[in-house]
Amino acid sequence: MDPPRPRTRVALLTIAAMSFAAPSAAVDIATDIDSFVTERATAEQRRHAAESIRIELARRVAGTARIERYRMPNVDPLLDFLMPPMRGQNVVWQLPATIETDRNIILGAHYDSEPGSPGADDNASGVYALIDIAERLAALPERTANITIVWFDQEEEDMVGSTHFAKTWRASGKPLHSMHNVDMIGYDGDGDAVVELDIPNEQLAAPYMAAARELGIPINRVTYDSTDHVAFRQLGYDAMAMSEEFAGGDFNPNHHAPGDTVIDRAYMARATELMARALETLVTQ
Ligand SMILES: [Zn+2]
Repeated sequence: MDPPRPRTRVALLTIAAMSFAAPSAAVDIATDIDSFVTERATAEQRRHAAESIRIELARRVAGTARIERYRMPNVDPLLDFLMPPMRGQNVVWQLPATIETDRNIILGAHYDSEPGSPGADDNASGVYALIDIAERLAALPERTANITIVWFDQEEEDMVGSTHFAKTWRASGKPLHSMHNVDMIGYDGDGDAVVELDIPNEQLAAPYMAAARELGIPINRVTYDSTDHVAFRQLGYDAMAMSEEFAGGDFNPNHHAPGDTVIDRAYMARATELMARALETLVTQ
């Protein structure tokens, strides 16, 4: 595996610190959400982003996330003669159930951004929501489901990372209870606090609607075909997506643009809480 360039800087910093007898070297990859809000579109930017997610997660929870590299042929195999296959990496963290079970739940959020866009709302908001939710689920004394959290690469390039992950999962033959996706929960222009949910059935919707009632969050039920849960739906799995009011018309004017630099923290915190509570219910049932 190619070490991303910042790791080299970590090593150099360590040597510098040792030579000056400093107590310890600072890690060079900043992992807070503000430093994550920077273009994540080129291969190198995406590798760096994946590594920073892995480091932040290691700081907060037990168990190490894997960086799963993939290589996907183009949709039309003929194109492979003309264009190189898609390459990227998903960040995968697993939290086993506290009982023996084949009940599996996947959570996902893409971490790449459009070229030229720092991707604060789209989708640093979802990336950090899942880091928070990982912490919450890890703190549960009992879990009746195995949880896999995946930070997907290349959503903005036709969902390459999630498509690869979903296909690999299906090839493994493992059952999947449901997949839960979060994409863009950092903007609420009209201040109505509405969260949109695309949920395929009422059984899966129930824990979300109960949590929304508890928190006083207005819910708009919609259907999306434009984010990573679709890769799982296409293979017949139950998959849901949470988002700001994307379909409902309260659209972030900076979407996919250089101005996507701001996250509405209060709104993001409430949406994160909604998903955390729904998942806590699902994995303790
Ligand atoms: Zn997105």
